[in-house]
Amino acid sequence: SKKLGLVIDLDVCVGCHACVISCKEWNTGGYGSALSDQHAYGADVSGTFLNRIHSFEVVPEGGLIIGEAGEARVVHFPKSCLHCEDAPCVTVCPTGASYKRAEDGIVLVDEDKCIGCGLCAWSCAYGAREMDLAAGVMKKCTLCVDRIYNETLKQEDRVPSCVRTCPVNARHFGDLGDPNSDVSMMVAERGGFDLMPEQDTRPTNKYLPPRPRSSLSDVAPIIPL
Ligand code: SF4
Ligand code: SF4
Ligand code: SF4
Repeated sequence: SKKLGLVIDLDVCVGCHACVISCKEWNTGGYGSALSDQHAYGADVSGTFLNRIHSFEVVPEGGLIIGEAGEARVVHFPKSCLHCEDAPCVTVCPTGASYKRAEDGIVLVDEDKCIGCGLCAWSCAYGAREMDLAAGVMKKCTLCVDRIYNETLKQEDRVPSCVRTCPVNARHFGDLGDPNSDVSMMVAERGGFDLMPEQDTRPTNKYLPPRPRSSLSDVAPIIPL
């Protein structure tokens, strides 16, 4: 069956936050609304962010990173809802507000049914849910469901806003239920992995690992556009 999701390439993400800003612009009232009470990007910006970037400095041993021995490396880790197949946020929701669509696997919140109890946020091991305190409802990545099927948009815009915006093509959108799709082939070729598989949530989104630095040439790395 169809499983729409994202494949995020940790090898090329430069942590620019463009996807964070475009997500907020499209989904939660624009970046300006968050800035109005904080004044500067990089400060403790309030409001709901359905996509966030976490940056880590990592050394190879025992970490996520395959690199030169002892060589520290910064990795930028984009995080949003992974549209899990066995989504605990759906199971725990007492009102049926959280649900997973049979037709494409997207996990959504019906805001008319949400009572803002927060149980789903507690159940999500990925911290992917955000309470909209002003509206009193839970929010999360919708995979821009209002873009991807939107026939009033140009074809190239019918992808999640973050995917359209990323300047280095670190984000890919497609059907991970189809083994022949571009995203599935990318996962197979690059060793794409599940985030925290021990949670047994079977996330749809996949991550592509950073490549060993030793595989790069001595000159500046070439970032595919
Ligand atoms: Fe639910 Fe979290 Fe999985 Fe998204 S990542 S489907 S919010 S459990
Ligand atoms: Fe369900 Fe809303 Fe409670 Fe989450 S906050 S469990 S979506 S009612
Ligand atoms: Fe990374 Fe692309 Fe997001 Fe920038 S826009 S933080 S490169 S995923």
